[in-house]
Amino acid sequence: MHFPEENAIWSFGSGYGGNALLGKKCLALRIASNMGRRQGWLAEHMLILGVESPQGKKTYVAAAFPSACGKTNFAMMIPPAAFKGWKVTTIGDDIAWIKPDTQGRLRAIKPEYGFFGVAPGTSEKSNPNAMATLHANCIFTNVALTPEGDVWWEGMTDQPPAQLTDWRGKPWTPGCGRPAAHPNARFTVAAAQCPSIDPDWENPAGVPISAFVFGGRRSTTIPLVMQSFDWVDGIYMAATLGSETTAAATAKVGEVRRDPMAMLPFCGYHIGDYFDHWLAMGRSIRHPPRIFCVNWFRKDANGKFLWPGFGENMRVLKWIVDRCEDNAGAAESPLGWMPRHDDLELDGLGLNAECFAQLMGLDRDAWLRELDLHQELFAKLDNHLPEEFQLKRESLLASLQRSPARWTAR
Ligand code: GDP
Ligand code: MN
Repeated sequence: MHFPEENAIWSFGSGYGGNALLGKKCLALRIASNMGRRQGWLAEHMLILGVESPQGKKTYVAAAFPSACGKTNFAMMIPPAAFKGWKVTTIGDDIAWIKPDTQGRLRAIKPEYGFFGVAPGTSEKSNPNAMATLHANCIFTNVALTPEGDVWWEGMTDQPPAQLTDWRGKPWTPGCGRPAAHPNARFTVAAAQCPSIDPDWENPAGVPISAFVFGGRRSTTIPLVMQSFDWVDGIYMAATLGSETTAAATAKVGEVRRDPMAMLPFCGYHIGDYFDHWLAMGRSIRHPPRIFCVNWFRKDANGKFLWPGFGENMRVLKWIVDRCEDNAGAAESPLGWMPRHDDLELDGLGLNAECFAQLMGLDRDAWLRELDLHQELFAKLDNHLPEEFQLKRESLLASLQRSPARWTAR
């Protein structure tokens, strides 16, 4: 039997939901990334959202975070009360296909028809738009059932129901020692049902992307937000993205794993050549998006999140959108452009200067260790490592060595 490469998807022993739905990660990322490389476009593990200002100006942003680092939440974010008149709309929450248009801008589409999300933890509090999307016409897998025939999962309500049928079909009561829903229980639902869906979500021409945002889950070292100095610098930041493993993963909790562009499990060809493809894209387009790096997960010495996250991420998103219009201030740090306290809209948060310094500070020794880990990744790439990255790393090293032990924007 002969299967032409682009017409066949084979998956063996797939316990992972994303593999089981072959059209999703297998086609829309793995095979598509390979097609994109040959044809001059990008298939990315990115959400796409729109930001509308009170004046009606619309800006689109695409963001790559590894699994379980907040893509769905960010894509469906509801701005806090302080942002009256601002609106965030959803185009996609997981995958973006991105192509240059005739004017030299990048335009993105969501190549999926729906959303496929993790149920546990999804609630009216954490993601009201997702809950509203799930009101009907959904397929749930491995969730618990209420006696009335409704669904339930951990984190959906503060109080669990008095009795349930668990995901394996067994009777369940609170405190019985087993989770009612599988930790990776899922929902899938048509995107059109999402209250925040963007009117252009099915526009075949896509939406023009002004900014790329890359982020992981890091309890130390990585500041809340910074902007790369230029394209190559931004691709370096994205390629060296790391994330701490959570309890859901099999590896050691808290270990930092490199996950370039959140694409390591999904890139259909050598990751070093993929970096070259990104670098080449930047050279070939007239209006490359600005590139930012975010971290919602930095913690204080007591292990408490320094940043409230979720809807409050709007404050960072506004700075990003304003930077794309040269409309927001920043200080030049050893690593990139960073907002000073006054450059971010922080009204009503009660975030004092000391907390801000902890969120945004760059610790020289921690960053020198970070650069060692970059080198570990680069060593694995062998002769596929773009030359630009080695140069970039050396210049970062030099600017860190010149910088104070702790650098903060002021
Ligand atoms: P995805 O897998 O990348 O789509 O991530 P989700 O949006 O499903 O979120 C994964 C987990 O991160 C969930 O437990 C969320 O509650 C949590 N999360 C999402 N955004 C934030 C945030 O801004 N701050 C914090 N602390 N947690 C977040
Ligand atoms: Mn998601």
